[in-house]
Amino acid sequence: MQNSLLQDKKVAIIGGGPVGLTTARLLQMKGVAVTVYERDLNEQARISGGTLDIHKATGQKTLAHAGLIDALFEQSRPVGMCVADVTGKVLLQMKPDKSKPEVDRPVLRKILYNSLAPGTVAWNTPVTGLKKHGNVFQIVAPDDSVHVADVVIIADGGRSKARQSITDELPEETGTFVIQGEIAHFKQDCPVVFALTGESNLACVQDRKTIFLQNRSDGSLCYYVSFRRSKQWLQEHSFDFSDKASVLAFLDTLFAAWSPIYRELFKATSSFNGFPLRVFQPQLQKQHGFENATVVGDAAHVMTPFGGMGVNMGLKDAFTLTENLTGHRFTTIADAIADYERQMVAYAKPVQEATSQADDRIHHTAAHALFNMKKRITINVLKVINWAAIFFLMLTVGVFWGLYLSLSRSYQLLSLSVLIDVGKILVANLAMPMRFIAMTAIALMGTSIYLQTDKKSKWFYFSIAGILCLIIPLVLTVAIEVPVNNQILSWTPLTAPANWETFRNKWQIVNVLRVIFALMSFGFFTAGVVKPFHKELVV
Ligand SMILES: Cc1cc2nc3c(=O)[nH]c(=O)nc-3n(C[C@H](O)[C@H](O)[C@H](O)COP(=O)(O)OP(=O)(O)OC[C@H]3O[C@@H](n4cnc5c(N)ncnc54)[C@H](O)[C@@H]3O)c2cc1C
Repeated sequence: MQNSLLQDKKVAIIGGGPVGLTTARLLQMKGVAVTVYERDLNEQARISGGTLDIHKATGQKTLAHAGLIDALFEQSRPVGMCVADVTGKVLLQMKPDKSKPEVDRPVLRKILYNSLAPGTVAWNTPVTGLKKHGNVFQIVAPDDSVHVADVVIIADGGRSKARQSITDELPEETGTFVIQGEIAHFKQDCPVVFALTGESNLACVQDRKTIFLQNRSDGSLCYYVSFRRSKQWLQEHSFDFSDKASVLAFLDTLFAAWSPIYRELFKATSSFNGFPLRVFQPQLQKQHGFENATVVGDAAHVMTPFGGMGVNMGLKDAFTLTENLTGHRFTTIADAIADYERQMVAYAKPVQEATSQADDRIHHTAAHALFNMKKRITINVLKVINWAAIFFLMLTVGVFWGLYLSLSRSYQLLSLSVLIDVGKILVANLAMPMRFIAMTAIALMGTSIYLQTDKKSKWFYFSIAGILCLIIPLVLTVAIEVPVNNQILSWTPLTAPANWETFRNKWQIVNVLRVIFALMSFGFFTAGVVKPFHKELVV
């Protein structure tokens, strides 16, 4: 046992999805006694849903700590993505992204399950709630079997039952409904759509609706259709997903204006499922006495799937919580859990909000296509402006830097008459072009900053630092250098003041300062624009 907080304590995890199993693995690696209660019959139970792409900074980081990153890369694959329109025309084809492998849900479960000690998962145990007896939790199952634990981690997904035992807060309806279809043999059963996508996934987002196709590694396909309806409509309409004909009729009507190729998908579907999209607010108010219980994954912050962030946030929860519980930073389990919950709200809430905004744009405003078009235009304009700004900044910085490197650092070697001549030549050559080049650089940098879409990111502040560092040398030039230049221009070797060397030294100091700030400007602004190591949230 490498930690003291969970020494001799029993931890129960409710739900053996990717987040619950990962949490169990991370705790078990630290010698913690942990049991996962899972409602599925056994490890071979069918898992519904498409593939999951595991992101580097969140999901992959956690799996690396769990010692499972190699298994993930061996058993997953990068998948391309095409974007099509309602006519079935492919608008965009993205190559597979090797850094974000797509893994089939059953494969991920197998990787995680096999990493656990035998007997860790209590299969066929659908938990109905939690009770508190003194300091101990009782995990309630329908067969009246008795399970107790000192710490409970709720990981039973977006329709969590166990969450209701620790908080009165209810999920919020988004009004968006998803119908999920399964196709056993994509290539054979849907040749026309397969010809369009091949092994790539496909997204069509238009007309306040979406169709997302996800290829699985076994040749099967899972697709999602989403649309939005009023709460009243959703209450009044209940789908019977075993009645394939009625679901087909609904989809055919919903997509009547779309290309018939999409209806090929519906016809080839072997089974349907469907559910309304809901969100759980991550900042939950727990009932008194449940300080040693917490939530992770979808049970903590189920979000809309527009962005593919759900499982990645959940894996980040698993890492953050287990680090708190098994590290040595906290004196009580309750403190470790409270700190995890604070961190979780801070990182999961903005992501949840971004996915909800994407959901709104797609299904509600009807302006999604227009929004996307405007966003694409802004991004393209921004790219041009960014590179133009870097180009003009480079020219400006190059003058300061080149002048210092080639000449100004050796001014003290020049005689007074040579210095006067050099000064006159420099002013004559540089005054006008530098006004144009530097002002253009500032204007382009300012426009780039104004157009940047993510004004909360650290890269935005890099760009701001870049422009400020360029303004400083320009101010130095105008406030100190130009008056000195004007003095020198009025001199001859005979009329120069006795303290002309003081002027020269001032000139030299300004040159050095200008070079330092100009180089900093170039570094900051280029980093702010190029954003090294930055991953976009795709929604
Ligand atoms: C349409 C759709 C598409 C998505 N696409 C993506 C995507 O591309 N990328 C991505 O990152 N995320 C995606 N997500 C989200 C992703 O599926 C979830 O974020 C992720 O599965 C959460 O993992 P989890 O372990 O918290 O919950 P789950 O995967 O839901 O696992 C919960 C587990 O708890 C078990 N369980 C449930 N109730 C009980 C009970 N009462 N007792 C015992 N066990 C119980 C379940 O059987 C299950 O094994 C998508 C979600 C949806 C709805």
